[in-house]
Amino acid sequence: MVYNDEDLRKEVAHRLRRAIHNETFDMLDPIPVQIEHMLGITPLGSVVPQSARDDTILDPHHWFWQAYHDDSVNSTEVENLITDTISWLEEENILQIEEDETTDHYYNVCVDMYPQETTDREQTTCIECGGVADVSHSIEGDAQYMSVYEIVCTECSASGIYNTVLVRR
Ligand SMILES: [Zn+2]
Repeated sequence: MVYNDEDLRKEVAHRLRRAIHNETFDMLDPIPVQIEHMLGITPLGSVVPQSARDDTILDPHHWFWQAYHDDSVNSTEVENLITDTISWLEEENILQIEEDETTDHYYNVCVDMYPQETTDREQTTCIECGGVADVSHSIEGDAQYMSVYEIVCTECSASGIYNTVLVRR
């Protein structure tokens, strides 16, 4: 099992939903919301202990990073990858942090379920970068039938068309 960025998005979305769905961030709280709070490592409003990250997803030794396609991530890269993923989830509207209309320092948080992959959207692992690649499939017929796959990586620029001739049984 090799984890890619899609797995990272799912993992982070799942953790955010468990930790902060339907919670309120108070911007005047003396303990500001940190990544450890968002991921459910430290309860909201509690001071983050020095060793909070040990053995969690913020630790490069965590099982997730041991199976991650890029197998040499350090703590800074882990933090950046998670921060970028949280931003991505916010852009996709899966994570919603909205200012409460009645006050100016409360923010209401909602985390939607991560969308399930639909069965007609086939994906595979990119052979160039290990990222998620979209697959579209068609059958072309002329003198013979050909099964044609177009594979486009969503993470690097790799793309290609592959075909195989279908043999009648
Ligand atoms: Zn790729």
